[in-house]
Amino acid sequence: MNILHIIKRFLTRIKYLPQFIIQSIKWPYETCQRCGNAYCLIWSVSDGLWNDVIGEKEGLMCIDCFIKEAIKKGIKITDDDFIIKPFYQFEKNEIE
Ligand SMILES: [Zn+2]
Repeated sequence: MNILHIIKRFLTRIKYLPQFIIQSIKWPYETCQRCGNAYCLIWSVSDGLWNDVIGEKEGLMCIDCFIKEAIKKGIKITDDDFIIKPFYQFEKNEIE
């Protein structure tokens, strides 16, 4: 990865830091216990896959963190492993 791409990514993170802080305060739904992301998807995997990847029976995790953890542990996952639904009940003031 080239340095300009890394700098651009870093600046984007900084640019949206205020939004992340506001969402952390206002977000009425679930947030990832690993990265703090206020996620907009309802998703699930089988209990067996969850236990293999996370190693705990319960928890809240965004799908990105779940996938990164699976890759880190060398656990193969496929599209068919996931059930994904968007939240439909969002109000405009909840996502800004
Ligand atoms: Zn996360």
